[in-house]
Amino acid sequence: MSTETASVVIVGGGLEGAAAAWALGQRGITDVIVCERDTVGGGMTGKSSGIVRCHYGVGSLAAMAAIGLEVFEKAEEIFGSDIGFRQTGYVVGVGEPNVENMRKSLAAQRAVGVQTEEIDAADVAAMWPAADLEPFAAFGWEERGGYGDAYQTAQAFAASARATGIRIRQGTTVTGLVLDADRVTGVRLADGSTISADTVVVATGVWSRPFLAPYGVDVPIEVHREQIVMIHPGDALGDVPVFSDLVSLQYVRPDVRGEILFGNSDLAALDVADPDDYRNRADSDFIDLTVEKVGTRFPGFTDPAITTSYAGCYDVTPDWNPIISRGPLEGLVLAAGFSGHGFKISPAVGRLIADLVVDGRSADPRIPESDFRFTRFAEGDLLTTRFPYVGAGEMR
Ligand SMILES: Cc1cc2nc3c(=O)[nH]c(=O)nc-3n(C[C@H](O)[C@H](O)[C@H](O)COP(=O)(O)OP(=O)(O)OC[C@H]3O[C@@H](n4cnc5c(N)ncnc54)[C@H](O)[C@@H]3O)c2cc1C
Repeated sequence: MSTETASVVIVGGGLEGAAAAWALGQRGITDVIVCERDTVGGGMTGKSSGIVRCHYGVGSLAAMAAIGLEVFEKAEEIFGSDIGFRQTGYVVGVGEPNVENMRKSLAAQRAVGVQTEEIDAADVAAMWPAADLEPFAAFGWEERGGYGDAYQTAQAFAASARATGIRIRQGTTVTGLVLDADRVTGVRLADGSTISADTVVVATGVWSRPFLAPYGVDVPIEVHREQIVMIHPGDALGDVPVFSDLVSLQYVRPDVRGEILFGNSDLAALDVADPDDYRNRADSDFIDLTVEKVGTRFPGFTDPAITTSYAGCYDVTPDWNPIISRGPLEGLVLAAGFSGHGFKISPAVGRLIADLVVDGRSADPRIPESDFRFTRFAEGDLLTTRFPYVGAGEMR
């Protein structure tokens, strides 16, 4: 069987693998092959809600989201195509117990370059007249936030990488790694051929744990199903911003057809799933929860009706933050475990992967590579927010 060679092989052509290819291409590293068993963006990327905000209590993540936003804003110029980014603004509302930490978090976000401020209930009411804002004690606001289309963004990354000479192979399943002692030297494909490479980047999302288990690498990723419900509100809502409600733990955002996308941000009860066999519709009890949460928060919807629902899976690590790391085998770079928030940071993820491949370290001092190291779980040194929210612990 034939053997090809490349400087870098990327396993997985989802958003993160495609972002890595794009960023490598931007650095002039073009002897790269992306192996995607299906089609680019056809994995969990296609299910993303695509919310773009920089509201993170982890400094490196806030900085990564700020970088992502800059790229999304200039997408036409950078990629020459519309990636579906809609700059509606982003509002986050918190209850009394979280006011102090929200203010500290906003200040810390500004310190790493995020444009964010506190606004009052009257400002929010003017933008979201259909909402009941009574239970909120404070609001954070990002004028430049909004939502994007993760699938279109993955296509743009891949097309841009391809234009630099990077090879994107769709319908190409990687069946395993090729090792020489403890060093990864390439990958084996389903047709029996191999590609030898100096570096192999594994960006296989929810499929990462079983992919790496045969090599003694236990990636602590659990797969959780997440349900999304689309609602038509009745009368048109106009240009409403994305709304993250940290009192009743839900998020809503407008969609291109006048619908509202609803997601539950109460992650206390998790739905462990098989990413190859999960129910792609909301369960009836989730529909009941949606009706209750949306009905309570948005009494001003004139004639709300559920139009459709679907589900996707998160690749969740113990601290709900990604692994973007060299090792644990030599020649391996891991980029998985995005835990439901990998869209907004994807351009910065691509750049960090490229930095790790080329230099072994991050080029951006705001984003130390140590934050995302694989070994942090075994060391018990998790990456957690400095400003935790009572009752909304997974809002990092
Ligand atoms: C329901 C939902 C809502 C979300 N909402 C948001 C949001 O609002 N904001 C936000 O920032 N993020 C959000 N996310 C998260 C974000 O969309 C994901 O983190 C991101 O899209 C994951 O990209 P990925 O490349 O890691 O994974 P994937 O897109 O799943 O890509 C992995 C790829 O690897 C391929 N693959 C697997 N095994 C092999 C193999 N052996 N050989 C070759 N190819 C292989 C798969 O086919 C797949 O295409 C959401 C995610 C979901 C599921």
